[in-house]
Amino acid sequence: MSMELSALAHPSHGRILDIIRAAGSISRVEIAQESGMTGASVTNIVRLLLDLELVKEIGHAESTGGKRRTLLAIAPESRYAVGVHLQRSRTTYTVSDMAGRMVGRRASFVASSSDPAALTQRIAGDVDDILVDLGIRKDLVFGVGVAASRLLDDETRLSADVQPALAGAIGLPVVVDREAIAAAVGEFWQGSAAQPSSFATIYMGDEFGAGVVNGGAVWRGAASSAGDVGHLSLEADGPLCDCGRRGCLQALASPATVVAAAEAAGLLAGVSGSAVDRFDVLARLAVRGENRALELIAESARHVARATVLVAGILDVEMFILAGSAFAVPGAIYASRIREALDDYTRHLALQPVIVELAHNPRDTAAVGASALVLQQALAPRK
Ligand SMILES: [Zn+2]
Repeated sequence: MSMELSALAHPSHGRILDIIRAAGSISRVEIAQESGMTGASVTNIVRLLLDLELVKEIGHAESTGGKRRTLLAIAPESRYAVGVHLQRSRTTYTVSDMAGRMVGRRASFVASSSDPAALTQRIAGDVDDILVDLGIRKDLVFGVGVAASRLLDDETRLSADVQPALAGAIGLPVVVDREAIAAAVGEFWQGSAAQPSSFATIYMGDEFGAGVVNGGAVWRGAASSAGDVGHLSLEADGPLCDCGRRGCLQALASPATVVAAAEAAGLLAGVSGSAVDRFDVLARLAVRGENRALELIAESARHVARATVLVAGILDVEMFILAGSAFAVPGAIYASRIREALDDYTRHLALQPVIVELAHNPRDTAAVGASALVLQQALAPRK
């Protein structure tokens, strides 16, 4: 990390930046009130943030009788972060500005390689290309975040080998995290002040995952395997899962499982592509009201809803956000099943209702979230 960013390593600097970002525009006096810091400390830190061009002055607040207050806001175009979402059959790249807004996107349809050197070279080349295309100088980029499922992380040796090699090849800091966690951080980063501070993503792509944010911080568990909902066993005598156990959510309801059942039923004849691509085709049939397709999707949704209720019972979160490319087409079908199941659960136990929402852009949530991981780490370090 460069010299100037190490100045931000102090948590109070990140905290002030976070307050400014969440407020949209805010005065120094209000920052002091919200942070509990003295006016003098706030003034000093704001001066540093202005010098670094991370924030800017944007005029004055309405006068309330005393001295007019200067308003501060994030300077969104001052720095950037790159997000990479590694999937089995495609890689999505996004570039976000300081406000977490996507300013560029590219998808590459290359199967993920299990050769760490080849994978490193491909990602490094693609990142360079997209920055050149957008005309963004590398010294204005905080770093690169890479998101993948736990399984793909293991298969490609992403955390073990690719991360350090990629940091060396690109010359920028690289962070790696689970796609479900990246999605949760991305939703938090882009969320409004009204967003609950405890929520979870339910992620459905090649694999399932859950990402939990509690009090603004990600919950990872003892060995960073919190949220591995794909292998919650829902049926003791259910179908055999790749993990060797029976009745896992992954084996009952994943896009690959649903697609296999559809093919056995004679649907999807002549449709090629990855499991997630074929799942999209099936989901379009379901949304159009094709009966057998709708039954298969509804069956998957029923299992995802059961798993979500289990997660709700353990975590007591206020909201679930459905993220991941597999929700892009049939998200409304899943959301309504999950809402029904959660309503039934909370009503019987006299608990507060839980909100269920579809991510704003389910296909890109993990890639945008991976860039948010970088922004979060650079600007608002949390413990
Ligand atoms: Zn399993």
